[in-house]
Amino acid sequence: MNDPFGRTVDYLRISITDRCNERCLYCMPEGYKGWERTQEHLTAAEIIRLVRVAAGLGFRKIRLTGGEPLVRGDILEIARGVRDVPGVETIGLSTNGMKLAALAQPLRQAGVRTVNVSLDALTPEVYRRVTGGDVAKVLAGIRAAGAAGFERVKLNCVLMRHVNEEELWPLTRFAAEQGLPLRLIELMPLTTAEVLTEKNFLPCGEAMRLLAQKDELIPQPDPKLGNGPARYYLLKQTGAVVGFIGAMTNQHFCEQCNKMRLMSDGKIRPCLGNHGEIDLRAALRQNHDDDVLRQLFLEALRFKPLEHQFRHQFQPLRPMTAIGG
Ligand code: SAM
Repeated sequence: MNDPFGRTVDYLRISITDRCNERCLYCMPEGYKGWERTQEHLTAAEIIRLVRVAAGLGFRKIRLTGGEPLVRGDILEIARGVRDVPGVETIGLSTNGMKLAALAQPLRQAGVRTVNVSLDALTPEVYRRVTGGDVAKVLAGIRAAGAAGFERVKLNCVLMRHVNEEELWPLTRFAAEQGLPLRLIELMPLTTAEVLTEKNFLPCGEAMRLLAQKDELIPQPDPKLGNGPARYYLLKQTGAVVGFIGAMTNQHFCEQCNKMRLMSDGKIRPCLGNHGEIDLRAALRQNHDDDVLRQLFLEALRFKPLEHQFRHQFQPLRPMTAIGG
């Protein structure tokens, strides 16, 4: 499927819940109370039906995300159902890793091929400050993912000045030791506007300069490390592979965008940084046939904007936990 700007869109990121067992500073506003009722969440059968429709239109890559996808009790049923849809070539999962130790093996058996684990710090107190969680559990999850034989495991870290700046070098070394790519993500305005301030924002360019004080960064033109907009570098001495996701500072960020997002309440968002949404759940629950769902997907594709609005005083109406990362 091509959007109006000629970009091929074949990647659907599905948020299966807005709930999370962590409280990341950048994802969920403090005291957030906007939870959907669970009856508003798409059921496993509804998700799988929408994936079938999407695959019929040309979507090939599916990512299960959230909130935290592993808090959903039927995650394995969802993964198996998605795996069995003709046309789906790969299923990825984004997780904070807190429940991954027990689930890595069953997820792999259920057809999940790649896993991204969020890891914003290695120092337990810093990790807890950013996420409210326990880094020891995440590290156990990363080890379990290594043992489960996923085709690829990546680490994701959101950059926050004065919060996890000091963690970047330890994280880079850890990634190298584990043989896993590390992606450094610029903070996007997806919680309350106060979180994205000059004070907190650490641009990729600066993170790159910090790492360059420790090691030489060699650009990797086409490392085939995924479907995203990261720019990868090999660090010559440590052997780490580090990707930079500069949603705010890279002016070319949206040029290759190949994704749409299905949210846990059944709305489809053609762009993370734009409020436009189309409701699929209403059509599903009014028993419309697949053709109606196909038309709604195509309408979303027609409305996919050229680029996100993050650089234009963007006011997040929904936090990231509700949209799905
Ligand atoms: N709970 C899972 C996890 O931790 O990966 C999946 C959902 S989370 C929303 C997906 C990704 O979005 C994570 O890598 C997270 O760090 C990133 N993210 C969340 N809020 C963000 C923000 N305001 N700016 C940049 N990245 C953000």
